[in-house]
Amino acid sequence: MSFDFFMCWTDSDPFYQTYIPGSNILVSLSHIPLSWNISRFPIMPEKLMIDSGAYNLIGNPQKAFNQTKIFKTQLSVSSGSTIPTLICHLDFPIPPNINDRIDVYRRVETTLANAYEFMHLYKSSNLPANFKSVGVIQGNNHETISFCAKEMSRIGFDHLALGSLASLYITDQIIDRVKAAVKVVGPELHVFGISGIEVARELFKLGIRSIDSSRPMMVSMYQCLIYSNPIRIYKIGHSNIQRNMPSLDSPLPCDCPICKKDPNLVFQVGAKSHNNLRAVHNYYHLKLELETIYTQVN
Ligand SMILES: [Zn+2]
Repeated sequence: MSFDFFMCWTDSDPFYQTYIPGSNILVSLSHIPLSWNISRFPIMPEKLMIDSGAYNLIGNPQKAFNQTKIFKTQLSVSSGSTIPTLICHLDFPIPPNINDRIDVYRRVETTLANAYEFMHLYKSSNLPANFKSVGVIQGNNHETISFCAKEMSRIGFDHLALGSLASLYITDQIIDRVKAAVKVVGPELHVFGISGIEVARELFKLGIRSIDSSRPMMVSMYQCLIYSNPIRIYKIGHSNIQRNMPSLDSPLPCDCPICKKDPNLVFQVGAKSHNNLRAVHNYYHLKLELETIYTQVN
């Protein structure tokens, strides 16, 4: 498999990597206690990415955060890691409702200033070779993304990523933005917050090889099940949450580690532990489907 799919993880989520070997995990600083450390993983994931949590912190002015503080926390969270560990700098996301040109540039400039500060901290930390730095490109159109991508590529990150796509729901808009970044820095880019299969297919066509998603858990929380080959989503029979979704009276045949143990487990609702088991099933199928699509495209 030559693409990386990172599953978003919070400390109340299942350890996907214990169920499905070779899983990559994306930990957001805003979703774990700041005292958390990877030694709490019973089994290490294949790769670990630690983002700054900026996307979730941004709407919460009570939580003061700055690049130095975020970086120190990322180091303590990943301390002792011997697996590939990607550390993202603190970016300043641009939600879809921000259109004011000055505000957008202010966010891009802050993102770049943080990126320079991050690189200084990162280099002076002399981390082991399994640690890699990730710069996050921000922008909300061709002009701002190109500008940020050009500046970001001068800073010397090991990898670059593109942010602020998670709340966009129009495939063409997402693809346009990714194209703007790819034009400047090439397709070796992680694209944050991808939920749709069709978006993933278009990204793979552009040469993108690294994405993440929180969708398996979101779908599970809405009491729905993902199946692959072909990709389908059903609500579980008695659920009232997604009224217009086709429903299942009983689980379909499935080779995921949860259904192999007991197919009825993915039909249970009412507790976080039930959501977790269903999320593993959903993750299993989304991952399979992405692998299939990646192979078709390449
Ligand atoms: Zn299953």
